[in-house]
Amino acid sequence: MVHERVMEKLAILADAAKYDVSCSSSNSTRKNKNKGLGDASGNGICHAYTEDGRCVSLLKILLTNHCIFDCAYCVSRKSNDIKRAAFTVQEVVDLTIGFYRRNYIEGLFLSSGIFDNPDYTMERLVRIVKKLRLEENFNGYIHLKAIPGASAELLREAGLYADRLSVNVEMPTEKSLKLLAPDKNHIDVIKPMEFLKEEIVGYNEEKKKNYKTPLFAPAGQSTQMVIGATQENDLEILGMSNYFYEKMNMRRVYYSGYVPISYDNRLPVIGTPVPMIRENRLYQADWLLRFYGFNVNEIVGFDQPNLDLDIDPKLGWALRNLDKFPVDVNTADLELILRIPGIGVSGAHKIVAARKFKRLQPEDLQKLGIAYSRSKYFLAFASPFQLQRDLTSIQIKDHILNTQNSKYKNDFSNQLSLF
Ligand code: SF4
Repeated sequence: MVHERVMEKLAILADAAKYDVSCSSSNSTRKNKNKGLGDASGNGICHAYTEDGRCVSLLKILLTNHCIFDCAYCVSRKSNDIKRAAFTVQEVVDLTIGFYRRNYIEGLFLSSGIFDNPDYTMERLVRIVKKLRLEENFNGYIHLKAIPGASAELLREAGLYADRLSVNVEMPTEKSLKLLAPDKNHIDVIKPMEFLKEEIVGYNEEKKKNYKTPLFAPAGQSTQMVIGATQENDLEILGMSNYFYEKMNMRRVYYSGYVPISYDNRLPVIGTPVPMIRENRLYQADWLLRFYGFNVNEIVGFDQPNLDLDIDPKLGWALRNLDKFPVDVNTADLELILRIPGIGVSGAHKIVAARKFKRLQPEDLQKLGIAYSRSKYFLAFASPFQLQRDLTSIQIKDHILNTQNSKYKNDFSNQLSLF
């Protein structure tokens, strides 16, 4: 009976947690019906990628979906008529250890609605991580939500036991937060981020002097923005991300396309498609900020505040800046090679390493695994590539769109339907 109740809670609280994308979920629906091996639909299990590229499975749940707030974009808002549940501290500990022992998971992603007040909720989250670390000797990955408005002492304790902490900003601007979550305050979200940044920097500095200094949120902090629920353009969204990366030392900003879940005239109507392509383009732009040396104003600007949906932002930049091309991969700086469409970070490094031994030709790039069909329009070898001299940016874009194999291709076909 107890087991059944816990499983019922697990179904409710794992389902409620799926809207938080700050750890990515595999979202598989395949079930084990014939006593075969494995079950991809295991409640609450999702997959996330570590810094070194490993894929780890996490138990992803809420402590509770009760909440004192009424954020219009959230399925757990207090005015929503849904089944509610709350785990006890011990139930979360037992589930985590039970799943871990069965080899279902390697870690825990724990978020929560806010019952009673932020400290009351945060204190329970902290008790769970402390029990896991100190009593169960659990060394797996733990991603914990930092509840806006919780006290500094509780946030500090959380950082001493969790690997990553995240405070979700949810709305890209203060104006949107006021519109959709009027009882919340933007500064309450920003303050804990600032606090965590200071603590992470402080503990890291201290550790350099004294190796016995404990770890503090060694995987850093992250946040999530819901996109498409309100009117912000990509310039505002990426500007906010840039602020988080520069001022809060944020490790990741996650973008969550709004899933229409309520009849509310402040929000897109139910049935409005989730902006998946926009979400994907924002992630690509985010990578340009973090790994390719772009600044926000090169990707979007007041004259073009939204990302192109039909091409990726790096190609968009290259087409707007054809005067910077062609680039001679045999002599150009790494920074410029990184800006060539079709060449990623590892490809750029391979080119720089390989050209020490020989003068590179197109076939060498193909051997290095470079997406040559895309990059060829922007490259020079002994002489500028033929196509580049003659083609306009519109023609290059058409060539690429007509040859690329994108899952979004059909969404942007120029061909009109007959019916
Ligand atoms: S505070 Fe968090 S859980 Fe509560 S309604 Fe707002 S977004 Fe949802």
